[in-house]
Amino acid sequence: MAKVLLVLYPDPIDGFPPDYARDSIPVIEHYPNGQTLPTPEAVDFVPGEMLGSVSGELGLRTFLENAGHTLVVTSDKEGPDSVFERELPDADVVISQPFWPAYLTPERLAKAEKLQIAITAGIGSDHVDLAAANQKGITVAEVTYSNSIGVAEHTVMQVLALVRDYLPQHRIVLDGGWNIADAAKRSYDLEGMDVGVFAAGRIGRAVIERLAPFGVRLHYTDRFRLPSDVEEKYGLTFHDDIRSLVKEIDVLAVHAPLTDDTRGLLNDELLATMRRGAYIVNPARGAIADRDAIVRALQSGQLAGYAGDVWFPQPAPADHPWRTMPHHGMTPHTSGTSLPSQARYAAGTREILEDFFAGRDIRPEYLITKGGGYAGTGAHSYAGKK
Ligand code: NDP
Repeated sequence: MAKVLLVLYPDPIDGFPPDYARDSIPVIEHYPNGQTLPTPEAVDFVPGEMLGSVSGELGLRTFLENAGHTLVVTSDKEGPDSVFERELPDADVVISQPFWPAYLTPERLAKAEKLQIAITAGIGSDHVDLAAANQKGITVAEVTYSNSIGVAEHTVMQVLALVRDYLPQHRIVLDGGWNIADAAKRSYDLEGMDVGVFAAGRIGRAVIERLAPFGVRLHYTDRFRLPSDVEEKYGLTFHDDIRSLVKEIDVLAVHAPLTDDTRGLLNDELLATMRRGAYIVNPARGAIADRDAIVRALQSGQLAGYAGDVWFPQPAPADHPWRTMPHHGMTPHTSGTSLPSQARYAAGTREILEDFFAGRDIRPEYLITKGGGYAGTGAHSYAGKK
């Protein structure tokens, strides 16, 4: 029987379960590319419930304990005395979400003598050292597409919030004011702007589709070009690389994975080549940006705004400079953990576990590594880059 170590973010501070704002979540038939939603044999939760915090347990306890497995759930994940480090040596399965990642470094993987599979409840497995996982033959899987559209919606929200300067205007209302000139002095229209998308994968493409009706000129770069009919439909200008892209845009949306190619890419040198007063929204990974270069660019006015929901490390320390830098619209890492996304990635995690325990193949679209090498989605997204 297996020991499953599940690392989740803490419960809401005013108690669990929370009061839900709505009675149900929208029903989605399939993902935009036709991929089917998760297909577990059953789930033991009501879609729309809080599943991603400790008491939510991703809805896995009954399923696991009825099958004789042990489930350990914790949010305590940092440092040698953390519950995570103490429980890791005899865990067969580790599960965590990118929003509250259980970093599986080479040192931790060396201690995890029994670990067979690390599951990302969500998308983006860069919190696992994939090279070390491959050396140890550990399977890594994630729930591809489970929250991609939610992230795209968050991007569109933050692009509009920055360009229109929504957050300071809302603050004026909260403070009892009516200072129209103060509210308008940094407020622009998105219409007519040049918007660049760095990497047109599942999320980047959804952002392109959602921003096209705003009357913007759309640009993008990716390792491979989109089909010509897609470029024509959205009036897309392709750029060979990000250096060419950033020179010609007012707004940059970042949707590439964190790899050795993208780590620290948004640095002083690159930011200096952008139009003065450009905006960046990055819900991909915090480490794609040089933390202090972003702060400097906002302070100097080279950037007019920066937003996103990804930081490094996570959770961000209380003194992280992005909390207090000017003209930012950061959220904690929330774009991919809306209640509907939680229902999908909890169901996907259950599907992966059912297959794993039954010795069946895990869907290729969920696989990142298997049997000592990159597999499925991982063979496309990560191979040769880590
Ligand atoms: P996809 O794999 O669908 O898309 C990623 C795209 O990036 C692909 O088109 C890929 O190219 C391209 N790419 C990879 N490396 C480079 C590079 N060096 N230069 C240019 N393009 C590159 O991923 P998703 O759209 O689903 O997700 C993107 C990222 O968003 C994830 O890796 C994750 O880090 C982040 N994410 C964040 C979430 C959040 O909650 N904030 C939730 C989900 C994801 P190609 O495949 O053509 O080779």
